[in-house]
Amino acid sequence: MAARRLFIATGNAHKTQEIAQMLGEGWEVEDMRAHPQLESPEETGTTFDANARIKAEAASASLPGLWVLSDDSGLEVDALGGQPGVYSARFGGPGAGDAGNRDKLKQVLTDVPTDKQDGWAGRFRCCMAIARDGKTLAVFNGAVEGRIIAKEQGAGGFGYDPLFVPDGYSDTFGVLPAEVKNALSHRSRALAQVIVWLEKAVSE
Ligand code: IMP
Repeated sequence: MAARRLFIATGNAHKTQEIAQMLGEGWEVEDMRAHPQLESPEETGTTFDANARIKAEAASASLPGLWVLSDDSGLEVDALGGQPGVYSARFGGPGAGDAGNRDKLKQVLTDVPTDKQDGWAGRFRCCMAIARDGKTLAVFNGAVEGRIIAKEQGAGGFGYDPLFVPDGYSDTFGVLPAEVKNALSHRSRALAQVIVWLEKAVSE
């Protein structure tokens, strides 16, 4: 059977790579990098759900007939009232990038008492929206609980991975192999529901 096409409404190569790995060969995946004419919409929402819808609807309105998947995700730290949350990508300010965002988080946590063994309680969250022709058709959420540590470990993954140790493990997502992250991550938990939904939708 020919692979089905899925457009990922992101320019973040790490997200696309993880999603493509988890989807396997039945889906042909491309993202914003293959369509430089598409502009990323402003993420004006205050929730992962709202921003996931904004991204999926904007891209799918410009790509008629294509299945479009968006991923809005981030890290919540309980001791910071859920920050950086939806602002995870922008936490360190304009141009900070992943390393700058991690530096900002480490700096902010310096004077905050730890509330979990060797770290601060928190989780990664991911909200995925599926859209077609400008309309959101379904939304799914995934989360992985863990702790944020004070010192980076490992260089794998992206974003806050070197600072996040999932519950049940003693290494960060920056150290754990991609297969381990992809088996338990917020993204994989949202994507598992997306796959079930999409397989049904494309066969109807
Ligand atoms: P978004 O592109 O607006 O959804 O922001 C996502 C941001 O959340 C990324 O830039 C990272 O800072 C963070 N993030 C989301 N998922 C992950 C992950 O799997 N590992 C590490 N950081 C992540």
